[in-house]
Amino acid sequence: MRYVLTGLLIAVAALGAVPPESWQKRARALFQQLIEINTQDSNGNVTAAAEAMAAHFRAAGFPAQDVVIAGNVARRKNLVVRYRGTGRARPVLLLAHLDVVEARRSDWSTFDPFKFTESEGQFYGRGTSDDKSMAAIWVATLLRYQAEGYRPERDLILALTAGEESGVDNGVEWLVRNRRDLIDAEFCINEGGDAVMRQGRKVFLGVQAAEKTFLTFDVIAKNAGGHSSLPSKDNAIYHLADALGKIRSLDFPARLTDVTQGFFEKMSVIDKRPEAADMALVSRTPPDPAAVERMSKVPFFNAQLRTTCVATMITGGHAENALPQSVSATVNCRMLPGDTAGNVQGTLERAINDPEVTVKVRTSALSAPVAKLQEAVMGPVRMTVEELFPGVPVVPTMSTGATDGKYLRNAGIPTYGVDGLFFEEGENRAHGRDERVPVQSFYESQEFLYRLVKRLAAAK
Ligand SMILES: [Zn+2]
Repeated sequence: MRYVLTGLLIAVAALGAVPPESWQKRARALFQQLIEINTQDSNGNVTAAAEAMAAHFRAAGFPAQDVVIAGNVARRKNLVVRYRGTGRARPVLLLAHLDVVEARRSDWSTFDPFKFTESEGQFYGRGTSDDKSMAAIWVATLLRYQAEGYRPERDLILALTAGEESGVDNGVEWLVRNRRDLIDAEFCINEGGDAVMRQGRKVFLGVQAAEKTFLTFDVIAKNAGGHSSLPSKDNAIYHLADALGKIRSLDFPARLTDVTQGFFEKMSVIDKRPEAADMALVSRTPPDPAAVERMSKVPFFNAQLRTTCVATMITGGHAENALPQSVSATVNCRMLPGDTAGNVQGTLERAINDPEVTVKVRTSALSAPVAKLQEAVMGPVRMTVEELFPGVPVVPTMSTGATDGKYLRNAGIPTYGVDGLFFEEGENRAHGRDERVPVQSFYESQEFLYRLVKRLAAAK
């Protein structure tokens, strides 16, 4: 997310609290170990990282049956650890993925992506921001609870998983299908919450409670073809071009969920740009149509307001001197929660309105519901933010991309992306070169999650 914010920021504390030094060191060592185990899909091994973390729990005295390595592919296994509570309430699931996006040494400037490097207040390495910081913090947090003899009122279940980035053998999907008993929980805390700083000042902390769903169509025009010296107006390329023109001018209806309504309402107060007034108008029930139209001109806000579809690839024709027989375009859509592939397909077909053009689903789509902004979760988040980052607003968010939260929300486990890991606006290099996380942010996130989970684990 990118915002240009002015004013307001004075009230916000610059530095939050960090853990005792010994636990900072422990978390840092775990972080280093994880970064230096290559877990990219092409030549890495997620199981090695899962085993390395499992060894810490076994060494700390966790019973063998509570430290489980599970999965059906040798190098893509998951670790599930159960930290026993009194059982007064249902468990909370703590999730992070161990796999990382591919990184080539030659693409990085100074640092080796698989060597953990601290430099000028930043930790560098592939996975530092996505998602090994959170994985290391979860491990350090459970070990710290154990060392303190802390007994929560719920079991705390840690799942460190495979396949989030590559989409191959997704660990969360596998666990939901095959080992639901291991991870079943009342709710889950995951990555995906944006926490945004501007010039070192914390602007807001996001709680991701919804995400859009990835869905791809092939839009295809076919024709008998023939010699290009005898053309007709009935040409597959023209049919497809017309169809794409219709998709270009198609706007799916604007629709707000509790999450996006809350997002616009909060951001209208935080954001000091002229658009803030429109955010307030959009957050009304019903939303102000003129404000919706104005906001829709900004791609980020447009994506918050509606399902979107866009042409991303095109292919067709077979010879310079032949009439095309087959032309097809890839149209990638991002559905709002609650939308369906059938509805999107029908909307595209009606807009195209050409019997010569067919619309086919390429990827199956798993549309996940919005996680209810329940007080049992939002209350502890607000309290912990108030304690560590006083004055920083908590904002519900919907990701336009995808996380593993969708599998859990679909399985009836409401999932919230919240990590307290603050990045400068526009500085999150997840998936990019020289991926890094600010050292201060890492330790603040460690303390934030340590306190947050204690609050979440207190039964009502
Ligand atoms: Zn991630």
